Amino acid sequence: MIGCAIAHGLARRGARVTVIERTGVAAEASGAAAGILAPRVYNADEPVFALALASDPLFGPLLDDLRAATDLDTQYVRSGVLDLAFVETDAKRLQDKQSRLLGHGHDVRWLSARETIEIEPEVSEGVLGAFYDADAHHIHPERFTRALAQAAARRGARFQLGVDAIGLTGEGGRATAVRTSTGNVAAGHVIIATGSWSTFSEDWIKAPVPIYPAKGQILTVAALPSPIRHILNQHSLHGGGGGQAVDGLRGGRGIYLVPRVDGTVVVGATIERVGYDRALTASALAWLLGSIPSLVPSLRDARFDRAWTGLRPATPDELPIVGRAPGWENVTLATGHYRSGIMLAPITAALVTRLILDGERDPLLDALDPARFSHGGGARQSSETAVQ
Ligand SMILES: Cc1cc2nc3c(=O)[nH]c(=O)nc-3n(C[C@H](O)[C@H](O)[C@H](O)COP(=O)(O)OP(=O)(O)OC[C@H]3O[C@@H](n4cnc5c(N)ncnc54)[C@H](O)[C@@H]3O)c2cc1C
Repeated sequence: MIGCAIAHGLARRGARVTVIERTGVAAEASGAAAGILAPRVYNADEPVFALALASDPLFGPLLDDLRAATDLDTQYVRSGVLDLAFVETDAKRLQDKQSRLLGHGHDVRWLSARETIEIEPEVSEGVLGAFYDADAHHIHPERFTRALAQAAARRGARFQLGVDAIGLTGEGGRATAVRTSTGNVAAGHVIIATGSWSTFSEDWIKAPVPIYPAKGQILTVAALPSPIRHILNQHSLHGGGGGQAVDGLRGGRGIYLVPRVDGTVVVGATIERVGYDRALTASALAWLLGSIPSLVPSLRDARFDRAWTGLRPATPDELPIVGRAPGWENVTLATGHYRSGIMLAPITAALVTRLILDGERDPLLDALDPARFSHGGGARQSSETAVQ
């Protein structure tokens, strides 16, 4: 996602771009995501909130461009999101958030239990109310990534698929080529966007890139016609999380449901710190499947469709790492997008494109500076991230 979005942004501006990809387009985290684009579901005090808000308005023009340049349907839907409260603490927190956001001009509402059931009739009757953002949207992440790759290719970007990047050549802080499994690729500028594997580029650039994989197990059930229209998020499940490493949109023990246009409903997702292991586990699948009826009882008998895993590129402070690699004048890092890489792809591409082609360093990049991990300070270890 991040590599393809940047390739698209650069190729659109006339740059000559080569994408070096070990496996295939959208083969890793970007093909595994739920595709939720709901910036106002983040809490305003989460560092990623400002970035998500900046990214959100870029989707419209970007999707227009992709529609004109490719024949791929990204299954984009402006569905709205309901962040459901089933316990009083969640209701209070979500009401407070709604009034704070409303005070800052965001068009979000708090719905009573009756109003929630009115717009989403199959939600469990135990619901106390919901934070409602009608502008939230979702997209099919794999199709979106492939559309960006196709649009970049139509503008001249070249893709070397099945090719491993193994290092850089160059000296004095200036890279001249990427070393790959099939030879060197000369480059005036190198962008490292290798997701959960970015930490291996520490050897290339001799600076810390503290990325670790955060495994997500996720599945779909098939239900036609879909009983739900909105993205549903539930932070605290009534009945408890059973000790599983399961995470909702913002962290904590919750699940989300996304009604895709193909008649499947996405049910996600765990967040597990288990290295590069990609196994689907019985306990996580049982937890996800068992949680569905607490949100939407009528989905209890939906047909199981499929399950898969993806490795989110996580950082110690839960913020992406985007900007010049320390000590290099022509190497840029664009990684660490953790749970939000689909949401943040447009703003990341815009920031990197302007940085490289115009030398313009947007203030949004301050918090994302790769150098924050080089001085031994600034990197806050999150206790919530490491669920397992
Ligand atoms: C279960 C799950 C649900 C998610 N839901 C959402 C969501 O609803 N909304 C949202 O915004 N985000 C979501 N995310 C997060 C999102 O998927 C990621 O943040 C995003 O995909 C990261 O994109 P990326 O391009 O950095 O990583 P990746 O998609 O992993 O791409 C990195 C690429 O680099 C390649 N690579 C690595 N090393 C090398 C090398 N040495 N040489 C060549 N190629 C290499 C890999 O093969 C891979 O294709 C979710 C993630 C998961 C796992």
